[in-house]
Amino acid sequence: MIKEAIKPRILPVEERIKNFKEVNLGYTEEQMLAECERCLQCKNPKCVLGCPCHCNTKEIIRLASERRYEEALEIIYDIYVFPRSIDRVCPHFCENACVLGKKGDPIQIMLIKRYLADHYGLPPSFTDCAPSTGKHVAVIGSGPAGLTTAYFLAKLGHAVTVFEKLPVLGGLLRVGIPEFRLPKQIVATEIKQIEKIGVKFKPNTPVEETCNFNVLFEEGFDAVFIGIGAHAPKWMGIPGEHLEGCIHALDFLREFNLKGTFPIGAKTAVIGGGNSAIDSVRVAKRLGSDAFILYRRHRDQMPANPPEIVEAEEEGIQINFLTNPVRILGKNNKVIGLECVRMRLGEPDSSGRPRPIPIPDSNFQIEADMMIQAVSQQPDIQHFKDPRLKFTRWKTFEIAEEVCATPISGVFAGGDCVRGTGTVVEAVRDAKKAVNDIHSYLLKT
Ligand SMILES: Cc1cc2nc3c(=O)[nH]c(=O)nc-3n(C[C@H](O)[C@H](O)[C@H](O)COP(=O)(O)OP(=O)(O)OC[C@H]3O[C@@H](n4cnc5c(N)ncnc54)[C@H](O)[C@@H]3O)c2cc1C
Repeated sequence: MIKEAIKPRILPVEERIKNFKEVNLGYTEEQMLAECERCLQCKNPKCVLGCPCHCNTKEIIRLASERRYEEALEIIYDIYVFPRSIDRVCPHFCENACVLGKKGDPIQIMLIKRYLADHYGLPPSFTDCAPSTGKHVAVIGSGPAGLTTAYFLAKLGHAVTVFEKLPVLGGLLRVGIPEFRLPKQIVATEIKQIEKIGVKFKPNTPVEETCNFNVLFEEGFDAVFIGIGAHAPKWMGIPGEHLEGCIHALDFLREFNLKGTFPIGAKTAVIGGGNSAIDSVRVAKRLGSDAFILYRRHRDQMPANPPEIVEAEEEGIQINFLTNPVRILGKNNKVIGLECVRMRLGEPDSSGRPRPIPIPDSNFQIEADMMIQAVSQQPDIQHFKDPRLKFTRWKTFEIAEEVCATPISGVFAGGDCVRGTGTVVEAVRDAKKAVNDIHSYLLKT
């Protein structure tokens, strides 16, 4: 018999639905140690292979169970520079690979790591840096990819300056994911720690006019890392998307996360099944709107993190599956509803998920005065006009197959602006690869 996983403390629905307090309160030390006890310490740990960064979770759990917290943190910080943030939002590839998951609950690895990072501070080696190399690197964008690149390059002795377009730092950790999943104070604290090792941050400084890169090189930078994410809305292309009351999820979440308020509609339809959709609908609900989801596939195909789908439903949010909008209805240039069509699932498409197929003559209308589109986005490359740069048809940066190098010598790229919308841990993996590539490049110049 496999013991059930220890459940974290969760803020009750009635205590969370009208505010933005963190919902998952994590483990106590006692709970963390009890969860470590469940680990089988497999000879060939699938959790390690499952993590895109190959984080040695087996060893972290062993050390934690022996209360050797500092040593466990050394391993964690060697991989992630912001573990308190990442262990709150990662879709836990490691847990999905855990062998216990085949017959019962996998080990709750994220909650164990989160407990350690929340309670035991930085390991002593955090601020250790190699002697200065005299090389300067410009990092464009302060999201997970930019932060990781900046920190690990600084540790190797390079002087790093991070340029950020927005007034706040952290990319989607700060302006995408809402407070009830990832408190802003935690992101800010982890960035302050990166500052301690000498990384310079320049918020409110879009690298736009200088995007031919020669200017950055003339200013004294020896290499550039582009980590601008994917922040340009991609609309569905259905009639009515121009109407007042239609907004893209990224714009909605950014404005709300920056200002702490948003003029929400009385009835809000959120379109999509990913994290952006679930985050948007939960924010809209907390702002007082009767908010609901329209999703063209079924629950099993939703890309959002499963616990957050459950939490949204607990909060009274309705998810309308197999439903796709085909037209936004308007009056006096304002949204008054959506015309939708019912879908059925067919054979798998290129994503491996069953293809949603419209059911003929199944059109129906839903009332709504706001529509949040959370289906798709792409990198905003309008200012990246250097003719040597190459882009894919999804407007992502093309890089060399084996390295993170763009066609411009000394210019590298990684994160969502290369892979398209992904996850935080994948952005970290890209950035760590870029660090190796940039370091090798700098040593040769
Ligand atoms: C609502 C939402 C919820 C999500 N939830 C999760 C989750 O639960 N778990 C998970 O793993 N992933 C989640 N993701 C995905 C995750 O946030 C991204 O994959 C990750 O942030 C990508 O990191 P990045 O550094 O590549 O880009 P970003 O985080 O997008 O950061 C890019 C930064 O570059 C800046 N920038 C852009 N252009 C310029 C310029 N010209 N000059 C200077 N700066 C510029 C931007 O302002 C931004 O700060 C979510 C995404 C969204 C939108």
